[in-house]
Amino acid sequence: MSLKKLPFTMQQIEKIIEKHPTPFHIYDEKAIRENARRFYKAFSWVPGGFKNYFAVKALPNPAILKILKEEGMGADCSSLPELLLSDMAGIKGEDIVFTSNDTPAAEFIKAKELGAVINLDDITHIPFLEKHAGIPELACLRYNPGPLKEGNKIIGNPEEAKYGFTREQLIEGYRLMKEKGAKRFGLHTMVASNELNPDYFIETAEILFDLVVEISKKLSIKFEFVNLGGGIGIPYKPEQKAVDLEYVSEGIKKAYEKKIRGNSLDPLRIVMECGRVVTGPYGYLVTKAIHTKNTYKNYIGLDACMANLMRPALYGAYHHITNMNNPEGKPDHTYDVTGSLCENNDKFAINREMPETKPGNTIVIHDTGAHGYAMGFNYNGKLRSAELLLTTDGSAKLIRRAETVEDYFSTLKF
Ligand SMILES: *Cc1c(COP(=O)(O)O)cnc(C)c1O
Repeated sequence: MSLKKLPFTMQQIEKIIEKHPTPFHIYDEKAIRENARRFYKAFSWVPGGFKNYFAVKALPNPAILKILKEEGMGADCSSLPELLLSDMAGIKGEDIVFTSNDTPAAEFIKAKELGAVINLDDITHIPFLEKHAGIPELACLRYNPGPLKEGNKIIGNPEEAKYGFTREQLIEGYRLMKEKGAKRFGLHTMVASNELNPDYFIETAEILFDLVVEISKKLSIKFEFVNLGGGIGIPYKPEQKAVDLEYVSEGIKKAYEKKIRGNSLDPLRIVMECGRVVTGPYGYLVTKAIHTKNTYKNYIGLDACMANLMRPALYGAYHHITNMNNPEGKPDHTYDVTGSLCENNDKFAINREMPETKPGNTIVIHDTGAHGYAMGFNYNGKLRSAELLLTTDGSAKLIRRAETVEDYFSTLKF
């Protein structure tokens, strides 16, 4: 039995496949919009307005960015093409946050030109930015709490993470930025990735609020906002629970009342840069089983491969799989579900219990709406798939065509 909901029936998806051959990713517009509204409603108490800057790297398609803009979101970018994509989708000025690291000068220059919020990753980036683009009016610095917080599996311990300023550097950084003419201030951190523990985000807010209190006093500066970063996890496994955003918001509100209002530092805006929780659960990789193979193990071979979804091979990540031909079937077979790369880790699942699957069956891999298509690559001559939008009226709209052999050859000088 499929324990995860799908926004389409077998008949609907077969109709879409007639027009758009597999594999493709399809994103559920209605669910993305409803989720965005729920997210904003949970944080509606935030003075000056809550904002989520959608992490463009999670799903870099302007059709999606446009939908999210309509729901009030900005864009979080970390490269020049991401800046251009956001601009293309109509997201402008301070609705863009540029949170990069190891940043090339040209990217700082473009971010400054677009009027984006530039979030600096290191103290040496202050003179670098000054030299190449000039010091912006708004200074935002990324904090790495180091041994303060426990890390998690993906991002590691903050101490081991390459991102951000140490505490001492942070204070010196704001002093420097003020001295160089910055007038407005924001504080950023991002310490978790795919974190399902809601208390983690409350704790992060508390750490940032404490820092705002300390630095405001020390340097006589007024903070406009704290940016709690992204990293809210999603329930990839059917038995996992989504992060309770209302609970997170309530906890952050309590800390805000005590630390920010209690020290007369309000209003302080609270913003985030979540990607995964915004689109992750609302994307599906639709593929066909093209072979089954029984040797020392039983295999299902798909027409998709890890070039379409790298997370299982990269992190051993779980993605739920539904056989649309037998969605309610008993999971009485054990399979490795593979792609066709000449790499033995090209597997969407290992030892997965599923109903019996046959060549020609339509297979849906769940939760591919973030860090799915986006992580694609061309290794082994694999071409990137199409992306479709399942619109609010139930029709499927092509928002990115599949790559062709001509695309693959287009950069060659031959
Ligand atoms: C990746 C990233 C995000 C988004 O992370 P999600 O897990 O998709 O929420 C936000 N901010 C920064 C700086 C990132 O690197």
